[in-house]
Amino acid sequence: MDCLFCKIAEGSIPSRKVYEDEHVLAFEDIQPQAPVHLLVIPKKHIASLDEAGPEDAELLGRVALAARQAARDAGIAESGYRVITNIGKDSGQVVFHVHYHVLGGEPLGPLVA
Ligand code: 5GP
Ligand code: ZN
Repeated sequence: MDCLFCKIAEGSIPSRKVYEDEHVLAFEDIQPQAPVHLLVIPKKHIASLDEAGPEDAELLGRVALAARQAARDAGIAESGYRVITNIGKDSGQVVFHVHYHVLGGEPLGPLVA
C-alpha cells in the first residue's frame, strides 16, 4: 500500500522515533508547528479516525496512552500540551493514516485561528 506512515512504521522511510512498541510508533513531525511536535500512529493502517471501528478500540487506546507517554518523555506534560487528529478534507488532513499530533513546549493559543 502506498502510504507514507505505513512506510515509516515498517522503517522503509526513516523517522526520528521517540516511542515504539509492537502496536504503536511516535516520531517527530518533519515540519514542527511548536517546539515539541510529535506524531503518534498505530502500525495498522487506518485512514483516519472516521475509518476506525469497534475492533480498533484497544489499539486507539494504546495510541492515546503512547501520546501521553511521548509528551511525558519530551518534558511537556507538566506545562500542558495538545493532542489533535485531523479527519478528512475540511480538517486539512494530508496523510491518510490515522495520527495524533502532540503539540507543546509553549502556550499554544486558540485551537482554531
Ligand atoms: P495532517 O495534516 O495529515 O494531519 O498531518 C500530517 C503531518 O505529517 C504534517 O504535520 C506533516 O508535517 C507531517 N509529515 C509529512 N510528511 C512527513 C514525513 O515524511 N516525515 C515526518 N516525520 N512527518 C511528515
Ligand atoms: Zn498507512
